Amino acid sequence: MANISSFRVAVIGGGPGGYAAAFLAADLGMKVTMIDPEVNPGGVCLYRGCIPSKALLHVAKLLEEAEQARNWGIEFAAPKVDLNKLRNWKEGVVKKLTGGLGQLSKQRKVEFVQGKAAFVNGTTLKITKTAAGGEENLTFDRIIIATGSRPTVIPSLKIDSPRLIDSTGALDLQDIPQTLLVIGGGYIGLELGSVYATLGTKVTCVEMMPGLLPGADRDLVLPLHKRLEKLFSAILLNTTVKSLKDEKNAIRVTFEGSDVKEKEQVFERVLMSVGRRPNSEIAGLDKTKVKVNAAVEAIAGHKVAFEPNAIPAVVFTDPEIAWAGLTETQAKEQGRAISVAKFPWAASGRAVTLDRMEGLTKLLIDPKTERVLGVGIVGPGAGELIAEGVLAIEMCALAADVGMTIHPHPTLSETMMESAEIFYGQATDIYRPKKA
Ligand SMILES: Cc1cc2nc3c(=O)[nH]c(=O)nc-3n(C[C@H](O)[C@H](O)[C@H](O)COP(=O)(O)OP(=O)(O)OC[C@H]3O[C@@H](n4cnc5c(N)ncnc54)[C@H](O)[C@@H]3O)c2cc1C
Repeated sequence: MANISSFRVAVIGGGPGGYAAAFLAADLGMKVTMIDPEVNPGGVCLYRGCIPSKALLHVAKLLEEAEQARNWGIEFAAPKVDLNKLRNWKEGVVKKLTGGLGQLSKQRKVEFVQGKAAFVNGTTLKITKTAAGGEENLTFDRIIIATGSRPTVIPSLKIDSPRLIDSTGALDLQDIPQTLLVIGGGYIGLELGSVYATLGTKVTCVEMMPGLLPGADRDLVLPLHKRLEKLFSAILLNTTVKSLKDEKNAIRVTFEGSDVKEKEQVFERVLMSVGRRPNSEIAGLDKTKVKVNAAVEAIAGHKVAFEPNAIPAVVFTDPEIAWAGLTETQAKEQGRAISVAKFPWAASGRAVTLDRMEGLTKLLIDPKTERVLGVGIVGPGAGELIAEGVLAIEMCALAADVGMTIHPHPTLSETMMESAEIFYGQATDIYRPKKA
């Protein structure tokens, strides 16, 4: 095997894919240069994705809880939102984390070049410096392309209007519009729609499919749908947007579909969140023989395989939805026999103390082997709780392993244990009449 410490590795893109690869390559002794247009690594996740959206969702949750506190005998005055301060706080969070990554790059001696990379040929990049200006060439032995993705726009709805925004524009938090149409009932639209709705915007969400979050099991989506029906002004399913027209102070929207009564409506802003497309068209890529398999350990000559059984998916709305491994929808599609053990949070002491009984935890279990194949959770904190499910699936745990593991009380994590007990017909907090 070649002496890997002599490898010069270039990494295009400083997102979680790129910086994790760059750091590992450096830890393995390679000489690494990472290129990204921003001032520090972070990519979409830190600058305009996971992190700023979660910071704002934290605020949204606080506002919702303050409102709900009325039911518990605590009344707050209507919140005053200082938008500049809120934006500054969110940007501070981003700066702190991206600055930390910049620091980690330095500590690992990863050279970070702020710029946009294009290929000159299979061993040379041309980097156009975004802040400093000018260009430089960089030669490399190996390259990792981790250029991520960007929001998709429906071509027929592409209009030149500052009122039409994507997730990046929504996270900029320019103002709190009176009305907002969210096109797309996926996780990004629902998360950002929730943020604006709690800040006071009248939010309408339109989705062409018959349900929100297509792909997620319906029983997990139901409690969220119910809550969003109260938070949003309207949820239009089976409905498509036919046209957008920029007017003086608004966008005129034409809808088509079974759920919509008013076919033409006007919104101060429209957020298009209909998916993302890969940034794979890097200039000059055609001058190389790129094979998309560049992972660090493969470069280092290690035998590697990436075969996780469970990749968790989390929707950070309120309630949160999280699942891992097999879903009921997939099991049905595959014609696979499974047992589904569901524990309703109405029977969880902790959920009652939080006044959040609408949640549900379910285990999908192989009826023959009793192995946990999938886990689905809806309820506050589902994103944290799913980690136990991921571990159970990865460790090939049996339902009995989960059921016999002592969980702290009173916690929502007990719902995992109680779901497993349901499978065996022995849940302490649920009475199931014996089958005759
Ligand atoms: C609003 C929103 C919320 C999200 N929330 C979550 C969440 O809660 N949890 C979650 O797991 N995921 C979430 N995601 C998805 C997450 O952000 C992405 O999965 C993640 O960022 C992908 O990482 P990556 O490294 O592949 O690419 P990216 O983060 O997209 O990074 C790629 C980087 O490459 C740079 N680049 C592209 N072309 C070039 C070039 N030619 N030269 C130099 N640099 C280039 C880009 O500018 C970018 O900085 C969210 C996304 C959005 C938009």
